[in-house]
Amino acid sequence: AKRKGRNQTVVFRVDLLDAVSRRLQLEQALQEALNHQELEVWFQPIVDARNGKVVAMEALSRWFLDGIFVPPDEFIKIAEASGMITKLGKQVFDNVGASLADLRLNYPDLICNINLSVRQFRDSNLEEDIVDCATKYQLPSSAIHLELTESMIATSETEILPTMCALVDKGYKFHLDDFGTGYSSLERLRNLPFDTLKVDRSFITPLGKGDDVMVRNIINIGNELGMSLIAEGVETETEVHKLLQLGCWDIQGYYFARPMPLAKLKLWLAENQTQ
Ligand code: C2E
Ligand code: CA
Ligand code: CA
Ligand code: CA
Repeated sequence: AKRKGRNQTVVFRVDLLDAVSRRLQLEQALQEALNHQELEVWFQPIVDARNGKVVAMEALSRWFLDGIFVPPDEFIKIAEASGMITKLGKQVFDNVGASLADLRLNYPDLICNINLSVRQFRDSNLEEDIVDCATKYQLPSSAIHLELTESMIATSETEILPTMCALVDKGYKFHLDDFGTGYSSLERLRNLPFDTLKVDRSFITPLGKGDDVMVRNIINIGNELGMSLIAEGVETETEVHKLLQLGCWDIQGYYFARPMPLAKLKLWLAENQTQ
């Protein structure tokens, strides 16, 4: 601790300093990684639990810095705050486009969900970026679904809505991610062009203890609004059975498969899909 003035003590927060310097170092390293296109995209299957068929997959960014895994929650926040998320997002589109075009040679109906951040709506022509990617890889708009979180809608609906509607007009579907963690009113949801609700993992875990009140309510909301449902973060057979009983069959989670790189996904699909 340092002395400042007469009685005030400024505490030297080593823990905070460490966090700040880690952040700065990661920000610099991320810039480098983007310049050299070192980020990867991994894919997690979403399975129809009634028949075991893959209905889609979610693209999840991965970054290994000198071989060490950096959690997406950490580097995506840095990318958003520094504005690098737009560049990152473009690399994700390109990676997903190439991977999906390749996979669809064997699985012609395969769909990939892509996560979006608010900054991508603000700082780039998102509509053009997505349409250009689909054109480059000859993908129909039905092959790409877009995920927005409930909190993005809560804070930035007016910024998002025009581009979202333009993309919906072109046939792109939107999923409302992490649903149930924000405070969307039914009325608000009814007026937004979402196709699917993704039930957040925090409501799936209580199913194991017999607590299904949130999941039941979210499924009711989805049905009421004519929306599809995907349950996220499903890890156990009990959770799968409960979800099927409650009327939610599209399931994403470690129970079926973890996120994996393209080469591994191909092997997984060959083993698990008849198509
Ligand atoms: P998210 O969109 O909610 O993605 C689902 C997260 O749940 C992923 O975490 C996934 O690996 C994890 N997950 C899937 N199944 C299970 C399970 O059964 N159990 C548990 N415990 N976790 C499961 P991940 O890959 O660490 O990504 C974290 C977040 O980072 C994502 O949450 C998303 O918000 C963001 N993110 C990842 N990639 C991108 C990207 O390319 N662009 C943007 N804007 N955000 C991304
Ligand atoms: Ca997501
Ligand atoms: Ca989610
Ligand atoms: Ca999440």
